[in-house]
Amino acid sequence: RHNPEGDAHFLEDESTKIIARKVADHYSARTNQTLEEREASPIIHLKKLNNWIKSVLIQLYARRGDAVLDLACGKGGDLIKWDKAKIGYYVGIDIADGSIEDCRTRYNGDADHHQRRKKFTFPARLMCGDCYEVRLDKVLADDAPFDICSCQFAMHYSWSTEARARRALANVSALLRPGGIFIGTMPDANVIIKKLRAAEELVFGNSVYWIRFDEEFSEKKFKSSSPFGIKYKFHLEDAVDCPEWIVPFDVFKSLAEEYDLELVFVKNSHVFVDEYMKKPEFVELMRRLGALGDGNQDQSTLTPEEWEVAYLYLAYVLRKRGQPDQT
Ligand code: SAM
Repeated sequence: RHNPEGDAHFLEDESTKIIARKVADHYSARTNQTLEEREASPIIHLKKLNNWIKSVLIQLYARRGDAVLDLACGKGGDLIKWDKAKIGYYVGIDIADGSIEDCRTRYNGDADHHQRRKKFTFPARLMCGDCYEVRLDKVLADDAPFDICSCQFAMHYSWSTEARARRALANVSALLRPGGIFIGTMPDANVIIKKLRAAEELVFGNSVYWIRFDEEFSEKKFKSSSPFGIKYKFHLEDAVDCPEWIVPFDVFKSLAEEYDLELVFVKNSHVFVDEYMKKPEFVELMRRLGALGDGNQDQSTLTPEEWEVAYLYLAYVLRKRGQPDQT
């Protein structure tokens, strides 16, 4: 039976899958860097700053013994942060099989790169899968509920269609216990759109990044059409080069509410740094990570270009409705 609408959906679905595969292949192909290569990166201080932001989120919300679900865990760059928080169990899922392999190597402690440590103290389950397509409540029925779900620099890959965005949030909600916490970081759509308007063309950036919107993008269409599937290409030196999707935060917030996830806070990275750098324990953490330096050496801090990239991101915390089990 011919169904033009159905066909259109089929096509949209197919192209969405192709792009999801492109993203997976991009991340899979990124090989582990040696410590020397990492330190020589043009965005090394930005990477350190992002690690600091993730560490702060983890330190603010993780409790000893917590069960943690890390959606789009990548190469396991946050394993050490979770270990420091003394969590009890960790499940990491990523669509890129190459990254999951690296994550496994890192977890097993035989990576040659920047891991100078023994075994992790918590058991872990690492899996390859599409977090925005698969019903994770079925796959992880025996591992749930989780105390914390984390999705770092990855939620925006779900915003290609409403169905995927809903699957992402439904997965988080179904797997968190009542009162459980969802922490994450993703691009700040307000900043990106503001920069696009200021640029007066479809591409903008600086020496370390550029963002390019498709030719068919128009402000009018943007305002009137669906808040899903607004694509741009993101290039960040020595880190990212793939298609991404705009996530209007108000839409994210209200969709999350439909899945019983209530906003605790959202902060642009610049505001986040300002606020948490007022707390001595996080200043000390920043010093140890070396992102902002000590003010004495020029090379020990973010360049203005890196600081501009930091502005493209936000951090959010949501809480699953309901009271935690007292037993
Ligand atoms: N969370 C890690 C971190 O902070 O280091 C990795 C962040 S990296 C910028 C984005 C990650 O999202 C990649 O590892 C990529 O493979 C993953 N990703 C993208 N789409 C995904 C999907 N549909 N399901 C699972 N992982 C996905």
